[in-house]
Amino acid sequence: MSSAAVEAARRVVSGLREACATPATRLADVAAALAGEMEAGLAVEGGSRVKMIVSYVDSLPDGGEEGSFYALDLGGTNFRVLRVRLAGKEARVAERVAREVPIPPRLMSGGDATSERLFGFVASALAEFVADEGHDADGERQRELGFTFSFPVRQTSIASGTLIRWTKAFSVDDAVGEDVVAALQTAMSKHNLHMRMSALINDTVGTLAAGSYYDDDVVAAVILGTGTNAAYVESADAIAKLEPSQLPKSSNIMVINTEWGGFDSPCLPTTEYDRALDKESLNPGEQTYEKLISGLYLGEIVRRVLLKISSRCSLLGDVGGGTELRTRFVLTTPDVSSMHHDETPDLTVVAKTLADRLNIRGTSLETRRMVVEICDIVATRSARLAAAGIVGILRKIGRGGPGDERRSVVAVDGGLFEHYAKFRRRMESTLEEMLGEEAAARVVVKLASDGSGLGAALVAAAHSQS
Ligand code: ADP
Ligand code: MG
Repeated sequence: MSSAAVEAARRVVSGLREACATPATRLADVAAALAGEMEAGLAVEGGSRVKMIVSYVDSLPDGGEEGSFYALDLGGTNFRVLRVRLAGKEARVAERVAREVPIPPRLMSGGDATSERLFGFVASALAEFVADEGHDADGERQRELGFTFSFPVRQTSIASGTLIRWTKAFSVDDAVGEDVVAALQTAMSKHNLHMRMSALINDTVGTLAAGSYYDDDVVAAVILGTGTNAAYVESADAIAKLEPSQLPKSSNIMVINTEWGGFDSPCLPTTEYDRALDKESLNPGEQTYEKLISGLYLGEIVRRVLLKISSRCSLLGDVGGGTELRTRFVLTTPDVSSMHHDETPDLTVVAKTLADRLNIRGTSLETRRMVVEICDIVATRSARLAAAGIVGILRKIGRGGPGDERRSVVAVDGGLFEHYAKFRRRMESTLEEMLGEEAAARVVVKLASDGSGLGAALVAAAHSQS
């Protein structure tokens, strides 16, 4: 390879590194800006891009819940149906049956994607699950269902709410503004499914509930999967926009679904690749923070950087000559993760990923090292920004400061955090860097795998009518 080509590529990478930099001062700014936006979102409806949605969840499960409950979890790539049998404090979740169903892409966006079809699909999957389960010990008791729906919803009660807008890979126009529960209930009655919808929640709220079920010190929950979001426990007096009718009945707490993915601030480090990605996305101008952090986007950002390099030099083959570098979303975040973790001396995982996904062959070891470096830059920015977000929430509720002796647990769910080890380690070390070693020792980040599904069942149980 000519050294001019290498030089050209290096310039792209160093430009990227500079634009993605997240020094401590900048992260502190991000945390402070987020805390400020949270405050503004609590003050008045629409006061911030960070929506700070009142979830109506004013009591969290404590472990004493009993009975069988169903849950649906819709929000990312897969859709999950679940039944749990809760058996009180000793046994906790005595039984758990879950099924994962991939959502056909044509129901997620495009001409065929209508509210009726999407919820019809959900209802039929639920009907099949219930039928396969047969009649359980519940006998004649009406089945209760919690629904985790991980998009911004304007809640009107614990079990109703209208869709504000789609995010991630969903865009089903006629569902916006619609009551999500009513839409699903209509679809369910077409399948002769008679279940009581006891709770409509977001996956972050579900993760918070599931976390609290096992650990009393859980104060917040974060999703780091296809998208990103956070929920936390706020004291009701701190929510200026709370209407009298929304005041909690028997507690002084309210779970807030922050919708932090919508956070935007000049202090966020963005690049030309982020701006182009945003412009071509399903929701331009929205979800800025999410687009810097979450699993739907990291692979796509890396692809765009590689495309740029290939337009400057020949190190990555010829775009005109058959590489897939122009194909959006061909490179996924799991691909980025496996390249980033490639421990082989010749970076054979990188070589294979470039070949399989992008049809790029015959790269030099030096070029493959550069690809790993790009993955590292993009994932590190994401992990550090996610950590800054957590610090922002802790600051907002006065937790994790130097004098705070309390243990504060943050429950985290999502494939990005669960499966991307370097991401996770970087996020945890950034928390320590930002909070200081001593305070960080009392802040526990805990994996709450599939908290979102279990959480819906738990909130349904905690708000059960029977
Ligand atoms: P969802 O967010 O759709 O509910 P998950 O929590 O399972 O589902 O997260 C799935 C997302 O996690 C994927 O879209 C992907 O971006 C990310 N992910 C899954 N596996 C990995 C991996 N090995 N490395 C990095 N990211 C991963
Ligand atoms: Mg999920």
